[in-house]
Amino acid sequence: MKGLLIALLMVGVPGWLGSATPAGLTERADTVRVVLAIHGGAGTITRDRMTPEREQQYRAALREALEAGYQVLQKGGTSLDAVVAAIQVLEDSPLFNAGRGAVLTSEGTAELDASIMEGRTRQAGAVAGVKTVKNPIVLARRVMEASPHVMLVGRGAETFAQEQGLELVPNEYFILPARREQLRRMQQRGMGAVPELQEHAYGTVGAVALDRYGNLAAGTSTGGIMGKRFGRVGDSPIIGAGTYADNAACAISATGQGEYFIRAAVAHEIVALMKYAGLTVEQAAAAVIHGTLTRMGGTGGVIALDRNGRVAMVFNTEGMYRGYVDEHGHITIQIYRD
Ligand code: ASP
Repeated sequence: MKGLLIALLMVGVPGWLGSATPAGLTERADTVRVVLAIHGGAGTITRDRMTPEREQQYRAALREALEAGYQVLQKGGTSLDAVVAAIQVLEDSPLFNAGRGAVLTSEGTAELDASIMEGRTRQAGAVAGVKTVKNPIVLARRVMEASPHVMLVGRGAETFAQEQGLELVPNEYFILPARREQLRRMQQRGMGAVPELQEHAYGTVGAVALDRYGNLAAGTSTGGIMGKRFGRVGDSPIIGAGTYADNAACAISATGQGEYFIRAAVAHEIVALMKYAGLTVEQAAAAVIHGTLTRMGGTGGVIALDRNGRVAMVFNTEGMYRGYVDEHGHITIQIYRD
């Protein structure tokens, strides 16, 4: 019996044992299920470039997002609800490249992309090139649930948002003076003149969640890449590239140089390695980010969560804003590589 318990603790506590730790045994950290993980983008984020105040702001925003999603799950909400709740907090925060605070196109406008996917049914919704919808992740979910389509772009997406009664804002709402200034410097003197753009190169936000019904969901929201051509669409709204969820494998949200993530079909590749090659979520995520993506020359990272509540947060940049909350509500937030 003792041997069985130890074996169970090593592979993870199954549902029928509940979360109670058998007497005399210490609960191992990796037997606690993670129920929600988020990211706020990757880049050359190192301790020496960060001020304590700024780090504090990022940590507070990530915590707020994790708490919002966790509350939803606690009340019996679905993984989809939790993903939307967490991402909305990050879209509303000016710190990240999603919603308010998004990077700008070369024309100086904000064009937003987002997507969401449900692991049980593999239903998905996505929007691209949206300019007036306050929370693109909410619109992506509506596309999934209230239209027969998976993806709407530009004017079609905006008209649909209006019909659905979603909150609309002028494009200026998304644009911070600091972003205008970054674009100006970048256009005058090139990317090298804007160190903060390299540090926070990819400020895209994303979330993956596991609910009490055993279902996974993933979502991603972004302003894209600073100085992008208008009309450019990255990986974030592309199902299989920036976002994917399949109960048979895991839920994934990516951040990084979107063109590479599309070409490597990063999110689906991770799922495929789990489903068809039997890799764990950590092995699959590492194989794609440190293997395929790195070999192709792409930079960025992913968060991935499997049905047992095992999370992988893998990136090939200096850092990635990230965090997770476990089934007991314990929050972990990390920024740097170590
Ligand atoms: N992946 C996003 C894009 O290429 C950028 C990011 O992660 O910040 O649009």
